Amino acid sequence: MLKTFCYRLYPSKVQERKLEATRETCRRWYNDLLAERKTAYEERKETIGKYEQLRRVKDHKASNPWAADVHSHVLQVVVADLDNAFQAFFRRVKSGQKAGYPRFRGRNRFDSFGFKEYGNGFKIDGRRLRVSGIGRIAVRWHRPLEGTIKTLRLIKKASGWYACFSVEYTPQPLAPTGRDVGVDVGIASLITTSDGASVPPQHWYKREQRKLRVLQRRVARRTKGGKNRRKAVVQLQRQHERIANQRKDFLNKLANALIQQYDRIAVENLRITNMVNNRHLAKSILDAGWGYFVARLHAKAAEAARVVVEVDPAYTSKTCSGCGHVFENLTLKDRWIVCGCGLSLDRDHNAAINILKRGGQLRWGISTPLGVLPQEAAGL
Ligand SMILES: [Zn+2]
Repeated sequence: MLKTFCYRLYPSKVQERKLEATRETCRRWYNDLLAERKTAYEERKETIGKYEQLRRVKDHKASNPWAADVHSHVLQVVVADLDNAFQAFFRRVKSGQKAGYPRFRGRNRFDSFGFKEYGNGFKIDGRRLRVSGIGRIAVRWHRPLEGTIKTLRLIKKASGWYACFSVEYTPQPLAPTGRDVGVDVGIASLITTSDGASVPPQHWYKREQRKLRVLQRRVARRTKGGKNRRKAVVQLQRQHERIANQRKDFLNKLANALIQQYDRIAVENLRITNMVNNRHLAKSILDAGWGYFVARLHAKAAEAARVVVEVDPAYTSKTCSGCGHVFENLTLKDRWIVCGCGLSLDRDHNAAINILKRGGQLRWGISTPLGVLPQEAAGL
């Protein structure tokens, strides 16, 4: 199994200049390669592929003084990156999606370069990372690096440089806990579990929105192309990055907590696109990063030998989890469910129990998978 570990780098001034120079050399090389493919196709209807371009690396190093100092693997990875962009483009064309042709990259539109073999161009040297052509860079190892290192990518973000290692490792399955859970996503609470636990909504974005607005206005006020505008843009990007990190960190911890406690986790299969119709709901859900959260749950479950199932959310809120009665007139304002069968429960807690039940039926094949009809939902 492959996994990525990213760490903040603290390059010296000289090292930073070298990192920037390499990034710029790679960007130009990328644009060269793209131009080559484009003209070959437009003028001669020829397709130039990855292997033909890989063969050019040697010549490029010999003829370009900047490229001469760059490790050949780095230049090869640029070829592979461009090829991936083309493959993604072809895939989109084939599946009939809106397909953008790979684009030339401007100065601020090229953020990383990579190495493809540990010990050949990069190596961990004590507490530092030794990179060919750059030097021994200081790293903040905020968590242990596990597994066998395969590749490295150096990434420039608004806040600075990062090293992302791709490692191969054998996942350690967690011991079974004998407990299953259903998870409801909502607005009043970010999540509520079938055990009745809830996590309050985390409005990272809203909390920071005022700050962002100030920064956005600052960018807008400054002259285009000016140095001060560039500075304000970097500040704005940094703020976006900070919020994204807070959100990811929080959701990762939340996913981890669920994986530790439960063998099987049932969540709603939310088609975010449908949610966009209901603007307030969509905003809250996107704000809470639901898609990212479910993706992390699946990834962690795969590592720990746990099961995550996504169930149809239809009628999970409107159905009594005790007797199956459907409350057709329930509105978003009704926070508490009181049923004739004697059930009296928080709305989201009730929904989470229905989600758990539906998850169980999917696993054991008792009911129809996904797309449960309202009448059938009533019989839960
Ligand atoms: Zn009932």
